[in-house]
Formats: sequence, C-alpha cells, structure tokens
Amino acid sequence: MKLTGSMLIGANDIVGMTKEIKAINPATGEFLEPAYLGGTKAQVEQACELARTAFHSYRETSLEQRASFLEQIAEQIMALGDDLITRASLESGLPKGRIEGERGRTVGQLRLFASVVRAGRWIDARIDHAQPDRKPMPRSDIRLRYIPLGPVAVFGASNFPLAFSVAGGDTASALAAGAPVIVKGHSAHPGTSEMVGRAVRAAVVECGLHEGVFSLIFGTGRDVGQALVSHPSIKAVGFTGSRAGGLALMKTAAARPEPIPVYAEMSSINPVFLMPGALKADAEKIAQGFVASLLMGAGQFCTNPGLAIGVDSPELDAFIKAAEAAVVVSPTATMLTPGIHKAYETGLNQLVLNPDITVLARGKDSDAPNQCQSALLCTSAEAFLKDSHGLGVEVFGSSSLIIKCTTAQQMLAITEALEGQLTATLQMAPDQDEDLVLSLIAALELKVGRILANGYPTGVEVCDAMVHGGPFPATSDSRSTSVGTAAIYRFLRPVSYQDIPDVFLPAALQNANPFAIPRLENA
Ligand code: NAP
Repeated sequence: MKLTGSMLIGANDIVGMTKEIKAINPATGEFLEPAYLGGTKAQVEQACELARTAFHSYRETSLEQRASFLEQIAEQIMALGDDLITRASLESGLPKGRIEGERGRTVGQLRLFASVVRAGRWIDARIDHAQPDRKPMPRSDIRLRYIPLGPVAVFGASNFPLAFSVAGGDTASALAAGAPVIVKGHSAHPGTSEMVGRAVRAAVVECGLHEGVFSLIFGTGRDVGQALVSHPSIKAVGFTGSRAGGLALMKTAAARPEPIPVYAEMSSINPVFLMPGALKADAEKIAQGFVASLLMGAGQFCTNPGLAIGVDSPELDAFIKAAEAAVVVSPTATMLTPGIHKAYETGLNQLVLNPDITVLARGKDSDAPNQCQSALLCTSAEAFLKDSHGLGVEVFGSSSLIIKCTTAQQMLAITEALEGQLTATLQMAPDQDEDLVLSLIAALELKVGRILANGYPTGVEVCDAMVHGGPFPATSDSRSTSVGTAAIYRFLRPVSYQDIPDVFLPAALQNANPFAIPRLENA
C-alpha cells in the first residue's frame, strides 16, 4: 500500500496543517517517509462532528450488523498482507515474528468482540414485570439495558502498534459497544496507523455504515490529543501510555463543562513474590523463567516483572545467581522509540545512583542506536519500605529490582507499601507456603487487577475472564479492564425504562425478545 501521510477523517483523506511527524526506524535512527502533518483544531472538530452524527445510526445497528463490521475489519487487516508487517516492524523495531503474532491477536480480538456482540449478554437486559396488585404499593414495569456512551477517543499505544493501536482492544471494544471511534495515532508508528486506518475505513464502506463511525487523526498529544479530549462530542477516552500522559488527559477530561471518563492504563511494576517453598523446590528454574519474562520485547510490556521479592536465604541466593547468569549473557534489544530509550536510561540511572541499590548484573552492551541493556538490581526490604515510591518507580524496559526481606512477614509489609499494579505473581509451593499465600492473596486483591501463580506476568490472554486493570497508577479506573471481553463495559451505561409500552421499547427489552438474547426476568 502506498502511504499518503493523510489523516482519515470520515470518508476523506485530509492532510494536516500543523507540525510534521515522521516515524523513526529505532534500529537505525533513520526517518521514514512520508511525513504526517498534525491536525488543526478545525480538523479535530470535523472528525468529532462526523462521529456525533454517526452515533445516532451506529448505535441502532443490529447485533448482526455490528458483529459483521468487526469481522470485516479483521478481514481487511489480513488483506493488508506483508506490507503491514514490514512497516510495523520498521516503525517499532519489533521483529517481524512478533508483529505477525500481534496481528493474530488483533484480528482474534476483533472476532471475539463480534461473538460478544452477537450473544448480546453485554446488553445486560433486565426485566422486572409490573406487580399491579402488590401491597401496600403496586410495582411499575421496569426494564434495563446498557447503551453506548457516545463517540470515544482512542490513543494508540507505542508498545503494541497493532493490538493496542488503531484497531486494537480499545477500538474493538468501543465499536462493539456501539460507539464511533476517533483514534489519535501514536506518533511513533503513523504509517502502520494509516494502513490499519484504511482497513477500518474499507470495512465501514463495505458494511454501509455512516462515514463518521471511524476517523484517524495525527498530531502531538498536547495539541490534537488535548483538543480531542476537550471536544463536547467525545464521551469517553481509552489510553495506554505514560503516567504523565494519562494524568494530563484525566485532568482535561475532568475540567470539561461535562466531565467524561478516561480509561488510562499507565504504570505498573508487576511484583513477583518468591515463596520460600518454591525457591527450595527449584530456584534456578524460577530464575530462568523470570529473566525470560523480563527480557521479552526489551521489557516494553505493561506487565513486565519490574520487582521480585524474597526472603534472604541460600535459596534466594541461588535464585539471584541464576538470574544474574541469565542477564549477563542477554543481548541488547532495540527499543520502540528514542524517547522510550532515553526514559529507560534516565530511570535506570536514577535507581543505580541510589545508595540503597546494588547493581547485580547488566546485560551485554552495544553501539547500535536505542538499545536496551538489561539490568538486575537489588535492595533491602528496609530501604524499599523507607522510599517505596522512589524505588518502586516504573522503569519501562528490561530492568528489575530484587528486594531481600529478613522475614516472610516483610513480604506483606512490601505489599502494603506498593502502589496499584496490573499484576502480582506468586511463585509458590502450595503444600509449604499455604499461610503466607493466603495472606498475600488477601492483601494483593486490594492492590492489583490479576493475581497469578507459578507463571510470569507477561502474556495477557484475551478472554472473558481477563482483567488487565488495577488501582491507580496501573489504571485511572480500577473498576475496568482494557483487555478481554469485559472491556466493552467501559463504554456503556445503564438506562431504565419504566412503564414504557412494549411498542416503544428498544428491541432488546420487548416482550417478544426479537434479538433472542439472555435476559434476567422477574415475575
Ligand atoms: P506517552 O508519552 O504517554 O504517549 C502516549 C500517547 O499519549 C501519545 O499519542 C502521546 O502523543 C499522547 N500524549 C502524551 N502526553 C500527552 C498530553 N499531555 N496530552 C495529550 N496527549 C498526550 O507514552 P509513550 O510515548 O507510549 O511512551 C512513553 C513512556 O510511557 C514509556 O517510556 C513508558 O514509561 C510509558 N509506557 C507505559 C506503558 C504501560 O503499559 N505501562 C505502555 C507504553 C508506554 P504524542 O504523539 O505527542 O507523543
């Protein structure tokens, strides 16, 4: 596909008029053509007005129409073929195999949401039939369903140029909910964004939908992103990125005359608890799995294990020795952008300069641009508890801090001191660590979105039971998930219909149940 550098505003290709953005190949430092000019306020306004208009017809599409649309997007993405893989790999520095896997995840996610839409459970239809003879007061006929909030602004993530970008999880769940989407493309991968944006637009045309169901705009977050979130037609925001970026969007959304929800997934260090029994059983194997998870994708996953916690013992020493050995031989890996590379080096240096931190091992070094040299650091539980915010900061990349506790009880104190996290992992031997595991699970439930046993946090399954969320700063709203089918609820709200005659009720709530969806009915 020939890239044009245009934004896709409804059915029109529109070239921006503000600051130029060019992707950089992070492996070489070279700029990639074409240039993408940023949108103006008027162009953002145009996309928002189209989305507002499209909302009326799009939210009334049948379940089948909407499901077919999601499937059509998946087909159009596959039809982009190798061009997409090549461009996404050039713009992100991620190997082609990883991008192919991510494409599979992206289309799988779209198809999964199509099946969710068809099944109709998300409408959560509830019917409390009238009880005219109830004493002392009769009861009205009351029915509930979920409807979409309105147009959604999506900020593509740098670290998933397909699965969490233009047609990624936020877009798929918003479209499934019946919300038009305007994507602010990530400045690191505009070419990939244009390609996928064209695939979504082709699906809009193929399915005969209003052109405003989808737009893609480019520009800086501070200009275009802020203008988008400030626009009165936008009713919710999906974001994955830095804590500073997420907080800025939350502030803007809250300051609007009509505040709106921002679902921002921001920062997490994903602690791994090394139970004494588990280390006794096989410290070396656990260390190898831990380092493999740490190194995956140059550590640029929101679920990267940035913290390991164990009790000072010969078994923890064995874990450390094996982890050090795996880290020192690890090659460098290209990071996503020069900015992310710089943030990694700066964040790591700050930790390294802390007198309470010891550097246990560094990976191999390289002169190539934007390389992540992995790092394994160590501190004591006392030092961590003294400055849990300073030492518990996210360093986005392959860096992890091991905390040595003097007692198992200190693991609970560390848990209390942690900020909100996406995940916590327990490496445990159930027959030996029982009491500690029970206490930790009870404490961790209040801190994280997902607790896992004897695995590693990277690799987030897209399924019904997944929670990719957690208390602040992991996300801006701990009641939600951005991965898995429950992500649809972020963009819905309930409406009750009281004593509305059957003929005027939405189809989902009519007596005949024309959608044939599951409903909760009380006589
Ligand atoms: P980012 O700087 O937060 O940018 C993400 C998106 O938000 C971009 O489109 C950006 O626009 C926009 N944005 C940033 N600040 C904004 C503001 N004040 N107002 C409106 N929009 C704004 O994240 P990134 O570029 O992907 O990576 C930078 C850092 O984020 C990483 O080093 C890492 O620490 C963190 N990160 C974390 C995760 C995670 O899952 N935990 C994932 C990715 C990144 P521009 O086009 O102007 O950049």
